[in-house]
Amino acid sequence: MKKPQEEVWSRCLTVIKDNVSHQSYKTWFEPIKPLSLKNDTLTIQVPSPFFYEWLEEHYITLLKKTIKRELGPAGSLEYSIIMEKNYNSKKPVSVKVPASNRNATRNPSISMPVDVGTRAIKNPFVIPGLKKVVVESQLNPNYSFENFVEGECNRLARSAGFAVAHKPGGTAFNPLLVYGGVGLGKTHLAHAIGIEIKNQQPEKTVLYVSSEKFTQQFIESVRNNTQNDFIHFYQMIDILIIDDVQFFAGKEKTQDVFFHIFNHLHQTGKQLVLTADKAPIEMQGIEQRLLSRFKWGLSADLQTPDLETRIAILQQKMYTEGIELPKEVVEYLAYSISTNIRELEGALISLIAQSSLNKKSVTLELAKQMIDKFVKNTAREVSIEYIQKVVCDYFNLPIELLKSKTRKREVVQARQIAMYFAKQMTKSSLASIGAHTGGKDHATVLHACKTVNNLMETDKRFRGYIEDLEKKISIQ
Ligand code: ADP
Ligand code: MG
Repeated sequence: MKKPQEEVWSRCLTVIKDNVSHQSYKTWFEPIKPLSLKNDTLTIQVPSPFFYEWLEEHYITLLKKTIKRELGPAGSLEYSIIMEKNYNSKKPVSVKVPASNRNATRNPSISMPVDVGTRAIKNPFVIPGLKKVVVESQLNPNYSFENFVEGECNRLARSAGFAVAHKPGGTAFNPLLVYGGVGLGKTHLAHAIGIEIKNQQPEKTVLYVSSEKFTQQFIESVRNNTQNDFIHFYQMIDILIIDDVQFFAGKEKTQDVFFHIFNHLHQTGKQLVLTADKAPIEMQGIEQRLLSRFKWGLSADLQTPDLETRIAILQQKMYTEGIELPKEVVEYLAYSISTNIRELEGALISLIAQSSLNKKSVTLELAKQMIDKFVKNTAREVSIEYIQKVVCDYFNLPIELLKSKTRKREVVQARQIAMYFAKQMTKSSLASIGAHTGGKDHATVLHACKTVNNLMETDKRFRGYIEDLEKKISIQ
């Protein structure tokens, strides 16, 4: 028979499972053990202090809500944390969940018409005697400009966003449409604009809403016959931020109501910020009159970040999480995941979780294993850039020299070795390898491969280099 704490916790897990992604569930909830249940307090054991912090930071609202649901209003949660140093003694440390958390509503306020997140929210239009309606902005404080790393890939969108944030409704960028592929920072930038406006002008009514939520609310209002309230609510917003407008595709009624809201706001000098996964010209299923309005202001795209930006993003993330990782691990992550910042962050987090769970330090080895799991669906090979980087690090040469025309002996050797590995370990053609190595031709690459093969046979020390490097470069 199950113990009471196990019963309660397994019921909690059922709820949690429905509210977090599969990956998060496996990473953060499966390792938890229910220890005891006393006086409405459930004690759960977590594998490390990091784990505890992560839960507190990201899942506290969900945990609290679930616990109260299972144990009633007096229900509370305590953690027992296995401390790394006293691993054998398993000395538990209890930390009570604070009564309030920092995401909770700060001032009494009225919110969007529909239940948002974990709070039951009333319809703002039926409360009598209210002088000023305060709208909760629904902004995530982590998605600020400070936390948004600037790079070539996002320069236009970022600076347009910044300009809008400092003069909402007062620039030519109205609407500001930020578009780009998955995980490139659209949502982050959209929040950053809202946060910055709130910092500058707290009296402004800013609202962030996803297009799905907007659609749901609209449908709800039709069902309840409160469409006018819905429209009025949105028409009183000063800065309306709608995320992922491509989801309006095919939803004619929603588009129609949004069209009217858009017009009203635009005419009264209010700011609209929109995001989408593609440029207006490529959007399908959106009415022409809306598309043409999207183009009134500025459309700015977010592109995939270059290597330096990826490294900077990882460093930034580590800094805010208060973690340190070896430089080679950070670079390896940045080299391996290039097209999606969310994936990049996901890999970083899983890596830290892995190391925390298994009490292993984060090494390049662990990173390689992790990454393989992470990107196993896409056929992957090491890139020429990665090879060049490892070779240059090994010989302590700046990468620019490798791509230069210099004939210095040690540079020539490193260059030839990098070409040799590029031929061995990538599917790139000789010509392409040459092009990546400062514009050498295919004959030079071929010559390099032959030279390396010869030297390996005749020079023992040289063979040692190659064997070392092979280990460093290979993914497995
Ligand atoms: P999108 O909405 O385009 O799918 P998100 O805005 O959700 O992408 O970004 C995915 C993740 O990447 C978020 O955690 C976000 O904080 C992070 N991110 C994206 N761009 C940047 C950036 N320039 N600097 C720092 N973090 C970023
Ligand atoms: Mg998004």
